[in-house]
Amino acid sequence: MKLKNTQIPHELRQTVPPGFRLEQRGDFEYLIVESIFCRHGHNLLVNSVKIHGEPAIKLHVKIGKSEGVIFVDAFWGSHAKLYSFLPEEVTPTTSVEAFCPVCGTSLMEEYTCREPECDSTRGIVLYLPGDGNTVHVCARLNCPGHHLNIIDVPDAVINTISAINYFGVGAFELFGE
Ligand SMILES: [Zn+2]
Ligand SMILES: [Zn+2]
Repeated sequence: MKLKNTQIPHELRQTVPPGFRLEQRGDFEYLIVESIFCRHGHNLLVNSVKIHGEPAIKLHVKIGKSEGVIFVDAFWGSHAKLYSFLPEEVTPTTSVEAFCPVCGTSLMEEYTCREPECDSTRGIVLYLPGDGNTVHVCARLNCPGHHLNIIDVPDAVINTISAINYFGVGAFELFGE
């Protein structure tokens, strides 16, 4: 699948959300998650597994009857994932139950997905630095739905960031190829 790049809006350069950094790779700039936590403050980024050269976000998940650990790309808008196990048959509506890999707390929440073709009501909530700053991800494995909630960043910027989808669903594209 082709690498899909979205221009980073000008306002964003002044307003990089807490927990993110903006980084140039080749001709493009990317938003990369660099601090993300469970509700109890456990850091979910691990150095032991890297995707696109960056520490990945580690989650404990249940998918149907299968259970194990997945690593999610820290590039905002990428949906690349590595599995520590082989999920059983995945259909377009298969959802993930996610847990903190450190304390086991559920990361699930009620969520109304904004993707036009998705009617999911379950999401995963992750915490960024700063009170009330969160990331919300649709629980459907094949849905690119995600949304940011950042206090003190204008809605227009938030909506632009939330709409970024660099790599498309399930794409696995490495840099330098
Ligand atoms: Zn935890
Ligand atoms: Zn969705």
